[in-house]
Amino acid sequence: MNAPSCPCTSGDPLDLCCGRLHAGQPAGCAEALMRSRYSAYVLGLVDYLVETTLPAQRDGLDREAIAAWSAVSTWLGLEVEGHELLGGKPEHAFVTFVARWHDEQGEHAHRERSAFVQSGGRWYFLDPSVPLRAGRNDPCPCSGGQKFKKCCAGFF
Ligand SMILES: [Zn+2]
Ligand SMILES: [Zn+2]
Repeated sequence: MNAPSCPCTSGDPLDLCCGRLHAGQPAGCAEALMRSRYSAYVLGLVDYLVETTLPAQRDGLDREAIAAWSAVSTWLGLEVEGHELLGGKPEHAFVTFVARWHDEQGEHAHRERSAFVQSGGRWYFLDPSVPLRAGRNDPCPCSGGQKFKKCCAGFF
């Protein structure tokens, strides 16, 4: 029997692709993290989706909504259109992608340009739906050592 292919549609077996990240290996780049998050939606790995969101935003996540959305959708595929590394310290990146899924209402395609930040050697998703609360001159909640206004504030 062949090993299952990765839901992120890389063409590689799950174990050699997003499965390694789901098992705890840090993502080498924002695109790899984004792919592993898509796969986590497909596989219903809610903990992984929470853990790969910026720690300062985790309390604002609705775990039940994530689980419900993951469960009612039939995921049809992922296409990564672009990956931009922005430079600077800490490192930020944008990943542009199209995700397709099917639910009771029919088929959907969602195009998104997601922002990510690297902190403590790991990449994290900056969730635009969860407010990141900090004063503009306060240390950025990503722990990157910059003022908020010079760091993640620009991504909200
Ligand atoms: Zn994958
Ligand atoms: Zn930051």
